Amino acid sequence: MQIPRRLVLATGNPGKVREIQALLADLPIALMTLDAPPAVDEDRATLAGNAIKKARASAEQSGAVALADDTGLFVDALNGRPGVRTARFAGDAATADDNKRHLLSVMDGVTERAARFRTVAALVWPDGPARTFAGVCEGRIAASPRGEGGFGYDALFIPTGHTRTFAEMPEHEKNAISHRKRALDAVRTFLSTHASSE
Ligand code: IMP
Repeated sequence: MQIPRRLVLATGNPGKVREIQALLADLPIALMTLDAPPAVDEDRATLAGNAIKKARASAEQSGAVALADDTGLFVDALNGRPGVRTARFAGDAATADDNKRHLLSVMDGVTERAARFRTVAALVWPDGPARTFAGVCEGRIAASPRGEGGFGYDALFIPTGHTRTFAEMPEHEKNAISHRKRALDAVRTFLSTHASSE
């Protein structure tokens, strides 16, 4: 397994691209985006399955090693939903605002608001191998949206030990504690360990 000099980010989500670039900025690896990332139907039953599927599609299109991130929000009071369906919680064409509104409506009157974000990052080599790396951030669902930063459900997620939502934090504060940071720390450790043993 060759350690890549460049990695293609298998996402068209500008929020994810910004965070991944900040979180891996210290690696001696060029992080590239594709002008037209392949459209992938995220139909797998797990975050890992979807992350590998997305990374594989970008690796095949570009011929380069690809890094994908699949993230889900798991809410205790909803028995772990929306989970793998987080992007489509309010329907197949749902926007981030639709999803947040839907989450608040199904949580109306619910006092047990514990939840967690899970990210699975997948590294896929165009010649076959795939590795996955997980990260979790515990927290709770806010009573109403707060903050203008971040993306997705950030305005509704208060990480444990904090009073502000992710969207109320400057990006470097979210990046110090997030699910994505934890998954990408594991990617970094893997790449540095293998790079130094080559
Ligand atoms: P996916 O990983 O692109 O499938 O995203 C799943 C859903 O979670 C989408 O609705 C994203 O907007 C949302 N999402 C992904 N990462 C984050 C995050 O760091 N904060 C808040 N929402 C997120």
